[in-house]
Amino acid sequence: MTIDEVILLLKASLPNTLTPLQEFILRSAWQGKTYTTIALEAHYGEERVRKVAAHLWQLLSDSWQEPIHKSNFRQTLEPRELSKMQQQLIKEFNRAVTAISLEFPNAPVSLDSKFYIPRPPIEELAYAEITEPGSVICIKAPKKMGKSSLILRILAHAIDIGYTTVSIDFQQADKAVFANLDKFLRWFCANVSRELQLEPKLNDFWDEDMGSKISCSLYFQTYLLKSIETPLVLALNEVDWVFEHPEIACDFLALIRSWYEKAKQVEIWQKLRTVMAYSTEILVPLRVTQSPFNIGLPLHLPPFTKEQVQDLAQRHGLDWTDNSDAEKLMAMVGGHPYLVRLALYHLVGKGGLESDLEQILQQAPTDTGIYKEYLRQYVLMLQEEPQLADAFFELIAATEPVKLEPLVAYKLHSIGLVKLEGDRASVSCQLYRLYFQQQLQTRRDSMNARVEELEKENQQLRVLSSLDELTRLVNRRFFNTYLKLEWQRYIRDRTPLSMILCDIDYFKIYNKTYGHHAGDSCLQQIADTIRNCVKHSLDASRVLGTPEALVSANSRQEQSSVLVARYGGEEFAILTHADAIATVYIAENIREQVKALAIPCEYPGIGGLPANVLTVSVGVASMIPEPETEPETLVITAEQGLYQAKRRGRDRVVVG
Ligand code: GH3
Ligand code: MG
Ligand code: MG
Repeated sequence: MTIDEVILLLKASLPNTLTPLQEFILRSAWQGKTYTTIALEAHYGEERVRKVAAHLWQLLSDSWQEPIHKSNFRQTLEPRELSKMQQQLIKEFNRAVTAISLEFPNAPVSLDSKFYIPRPPIEELAYAEITEPGSVICIKAPKKMGKSSLILRILAHAIDIGYTTVSIDFQQADKAVFANLDKFLRWFCANVSRELQLEPKLNDFWDEDMGSKISCSLYFQTYLLKSIETPLVLALNEVDWVFEHPEIACDFLALIRSWYEKAKQVEIWQKLRTVMAYSTEILVPLRVTQSPFNIGLPLHLPPFTKEQVQDLAQRHGLDWTDNSDAEKLMAMVGGHPYLVRLALYHLVGKGGLESDLEQILQQAPTDTGIYKEYLRQYVLMLQEEPQLADAFFELIAATEPVKLEPLVAYKLHSIGLVKLEGDRASVSCQLYRLYFQQQLQTRRDSMNARVEELEKENQQLRVLSSLDELTRLVNRRFFNTYLKLEWQRYIRDRTPLSMILCDIDYFKIYNKTYGHHAGDSCLQQIADTIRNCVKHSLDASRVLGTPEALVSANSRQEQSSVLVARYGGEEFAILTHADAIATVYIAENIREQVKALAIPCEYPGIGGLPANVLTVSVGVASMIPEPETEPETLVITAEQGLYQAKRRGRDRVVVG
């Protein structure tokens, strides 16, 4: 075992952890240093060191059950392997220690954090680039890929090599700052001055006639850059916030470009080294082809490799060297730095007692998993961009990479949801696929729910329509509901809607003379006759006597449907899309056919009967529905026609 393992083992097994002096003595003794040297280096008296050491050797002897002292310490322990139990002890100890020192992985990884995983050669490239006069570095990556953490390190490195640094985060700018270019550039210059601890002298350099861009350049050239001795690393973070204001973005980026160009000729501009970071997703509003960022050194932050995931796991006190856990996690989230770190955070959080990897992965793509807030952002993003959502859902359903419209593919790629191979796109990790598959299902479910809702509404319509037992025609209530629906539809279509109202003449007397039973039979015969007449006259593909047929015809928007209803005791109503002339023709036909039934009715004592057979009087109305007219107008007009038909002697058709 190594000295590190010996120390960890002692820390893990002793009731009290080792003091810094004890640890120092052990490490020094391992290296064969004398007590005198140790005391000197530790700034302690030799007496004290010897006393602490004696106690230590006693502890070691007790725990290994054999005499261990300074002279045989290393020889005794170095050749030995850690036993399984000791390994376990160290593992648990590491977990517990890590749990205490865990930081929630939301903010950039701080400089002193042990969780920063370098992604060679990115850091080295950036460190080298800032030493180049007038250089520009563009760090592009979707959310949570480690841009700000990298910027922190570039700035720290710059300070190490004696440069001046300024960091501007556009997310901090008030909304009002983006009102116009002038305001924005003044805010920018004021903040850079403040960061440099220089007095802002905007008014000395700002000249309206020269314009904001030139004023800003002059401010840098003749004031800011002049005031500092060393190169200046200017870090611009969250540049996306500027992209949201395309007019400002275009000018600002042109300005950065002009400074970059100037550095090739003008010495003072060589002092400036710009580092910009943006998650490409908000680049979307800028025209892709006009991306002004094709200057300087572009740095794309790649996902972690398996080794890097294992390294990060180890820094969390987990031993993932056997690959399987690293592979399981990567199968779900790829090597996405934030997603990997969040999983590790939850794995070792509270000493790892709360969850295991299987459980985390099982819940990961759901609304109860550890990524729920993160995934929710994508849901919102897609809700705002239906075109992206459609394309993405197409990918979710596909088993192979899909060729998407280039701009859509670019946008999805830049927000991190898809990976591109040539012109083919596929979902960037299993987590997104599984989560959005569920979302897709929810989408479908809500569509099904809508269909069910419609179905319910239809059913309600059916309940409304109690069918008349005697004639098997729909009743007046249904007729009126249907009329309202049709009225709305015909307002849109601007085509005529017509109604026939048909009333048996002197039916009261018929009933009195022949009895109710005979009367009922007449009603049935006349109902059938009307149905047939309508069918033949209109050549309608369907005559809607039953509510089911009506509902389905209505939902299919069938034009050729005609409604026949029993409107009252001995009254029938017909609603049709035929125009006035065709409707009068149908009405006349009904009148003739009923008469042709030749139902005898000899009423003693009533003179002036139109015939000695049962007849009907008919009123007709036809109109193009208008939004400002109520559907009842059609009924009233038909009633007026019927009234006139009665008045004029019955057995006739009158248009109201
Ligand atoms: P008019 O020519 O003016 O229409 O006279 P009418 O007698 O037909 O009209 P009125 O409204 O005075 O009488 C309607 C009669 O219809 C009353 C009732 O005897 C008869 N009636 C209504 N419903 C039924 C029914 O379901 N069965 C039978 N058998 N008769 C009915
Ligand atoms: Mg009547
Ligand atoms: Mg009548």
